[in-house]
Amino acid sequence: MDTNRTENAAAETWRARPAKQQPQWPDPAALQTAVAELRSYPPLVFAGECDLLKDRLAQVARGEAFVLQGGDCAETFEGVTADAIRNKLKTLLQMAAVLTYAGSVPVVKIGRIAGQYGKPRSKDTETRDGITLPAYRGDSVNGFEFTAESRVPDPWRMVRMYHSSSATLNLVRAFTTGGYADLHQVHAWNRDFVASSPSGKRYEMLASEIQRALDFMRACGVDPEETRTVEFFSSHEGLLLEYEAALTRTDSRTGSLYNTSAHFVWIGERTRDLDGAHLEYFSKISNPIGIKLGPSTTPDDALAYLNRLSPQREPGRLTFIIRMGAGVIRDKLPALVEKVTAEGHQVAWICDPMHGNTFEAPSGHKTRRFDDVLDEVKGFFEVHRALGTHPGGIHMELTGDDVTECVGGGHEIAFGDLATRYESACDPRLNRSQALDLAFLVAEMYRS
Ligand code: PEP
Ligand code: MN
Repeated sequence: MDTNRTENAAAETWRARPAKQQPQWPDPAALQTAVAELRSYPPLVFAGECDLLKDRLAQVARGEAFVLQGGDCAETFEGVTADAIRNKLKTLLQMAAVLTYAGSVPVVKIGRIAGQYGKPRSKDTETRDGITLPAYRGDSVNGFEFTAESRVPDPWRMVRMYHSSSATLNLVRAFTTGGYADLHQVHAWNRDFVASSPSGKRYEMLASEIQRALDFMRACGVDPEETRTVEFFSSHEGLLLEYEAALTRTDSRTGSLYNTSAHFVWIGERTRDLDGAHLEYFSKISNPIGIKLGPSTTPDDALAYLNRLSPQREPGRLTFIIRMGAGVIRDKLPALVEKVTAEGHQVAWICDPMHGNTFEAPSGHKTRRFDDVLDEVKGFFEVHRALGTHPGGIHMELTGDDVTECVGGGHEIAFGDLATRYESACDPRLNRSQALDLAFLVAEMYRS
């Protein structure tokens, strides 16, 4: 990796295009100083790691692996604690263990972690009690606190985003390679969950089967290194182009540009204009990338994204993250899959069952129903099964903590419970037990 700090012109061509959802930085000189600081920092991930993930996603595109991508809607600086990071990782590893066994396929584990700090907003302002202020755009831009002062964009927050991402990734790397992720350990956690969850009875059989498989391996003297460490990748929405461009570096092996702030970055639903700055920037980097596709996406749009972002048609390069809503996925997805398949493209299709199912609870909290989330995943599987294509994975907003942000699930969180522990800085996340419930239910779907 070339850590040389000069600007690369190709990483900057996005500046000539309209960029949606960018903060109005109040002080251009401060922005330049902060960006120069970011440019001087070492990469957070290496090009070779990004290539490995691209290979893994190519397996997904070929139907040989399944993706589990998950984490917070919005990470916060305050949330960078050992406990919070460990709990999130633990939940993802538990989910992955269940899915790996049930599907008998490798599960590619990607966190929405170590960089998920910038948020697109439907409205530029927020009004409370008659007072209107700029919207919160994530900790990398402004403060969550509802005061005029806190809502002013501060470019030095992007520098803090880098350091927070770096600290998070360091702990994630330590956990995933240092013994904490041992499969026997992960399974022991799942047994605890099955024993203590109200819906756990239903999963006992699957958990016992996994136990027997592990016992069998042990009895045979099979104890591969692969059960003690896991491959884990980082990802976030590549929203703040000043940040992403500052962390874009030339790979000395190939001369290609890589975004070194995460292994995988994606384009959000609100910034996927074909002629916009985000498409332009993403077309220049060599990472595996994703694009969120909502219900307005036409089959021709999907092809246009492929032609623009994956002109070499390299499997693993582009992942479609479908976020239609439980009510429409069965109507809208088939035409996209059919057209893309008919044109001979191999892409990874993954299902984000969160963002098309958000609504406001009577209490005013943004929430989602567990059953809608599950139903969208079901619809996603149904569509792919009917077309003979591969349901390649799921993309979830979740946390390892016992928050009360989504309604339903094994512990039956009701509207009245939302206020108890609503901690998300943005969208509602599945809590630990809802996330595990979902993994067991998707595992059942995978096998049926
Ligand atoms: C998100 O993933 O948090 C998000 C904003 O999603 P989308 O772009 O699909 O709305
Ligand atoms: Mn979200």
